[in-house]
Amino acid sequence: MSRREELLDLAEGAKGFMPTNEGLALYEVALEYGRRVPGGTWLEVGAWCGKSALYLGNAAEATESVLYSLDHHHGSEENQAGWEHFDSTLVDPLDGRLNTLLSWQRTIASARLEETIVGLVGHSTVVARHFAQPLDVLFIDGGHARDVAWADYEAWSPKVIANGLLFIHDVFADPKDGGQAPYEIYRAALDSGRFIERGNEGSLRVLSCVA
Ligand code: SAH
Ligand code: MG
Repeated sequence: MSRREELLDLAEGAKGFMPTNEGLALYEVALEYGRRVPGGTWLEVGAWCGKSALYLGNAAEATESVLYSLDHHHGSEENQAGWEHFDSTLVDPLDGRLNTLLSWQRTIASARLEETIVGLVGHSTVVARHFAQPLDVLFIDGGHARDVAWADYEAWSPKVIANGLLFIHDVFADPKDGGQAPYEIYRAALDSGRFIERGNEGSLRVLSCVA
């Protein structure tokens, strides 16, 4: 089995919120970008247990890029007890809080991607304020509450370089299909004139920075 297939299999088997068709699209588009612009700096907001990191990390490894995978690792609102996406196996018995850090670390280690993927443990906007490196690829998949999604967009999207990529996950034009915050920031990115749409797969939108 090739390294590419090994990592795609591991990604498919990993715990998380990334349908296979969308993960494959993430991988393919990032790979195509990395081949044109190798050695880039990539970042994802919203790591959870490392599933999307394996799709992006597969492409990053092949193109000598580095992926920062950012999360405070205590889950979003929708991951807490009583909400739709709660997973009791991820609760830390010591403090009763959700904690995905160990699971994330095991996922990255099992894929032997520790020299390609760098974990950033912290609040998205705090990290962003101190993160000066321009981004070739940005994947926004953090909290979906309106203020959280907007804060991610405002903090991180200005760091994307010209011709760089912005992926946004969980974009649903129709409120019946899902929360509207990712859709709002996707619209804002297009309306800003800095990004144009390059493609989509399921709820994943692919934008390219034009300025
Ligand atoms: N990309 C993941 C899913 C991410 S779920 C996958 O492929 O499965 C969203 C994640 O965003 C959660 O793990 C949550 O802890 C994180 N998150 C939410 N708000 C955040 C914030 N303000 N700063 C850092 N991480 C945040
Ligand atoms: Mg998502």
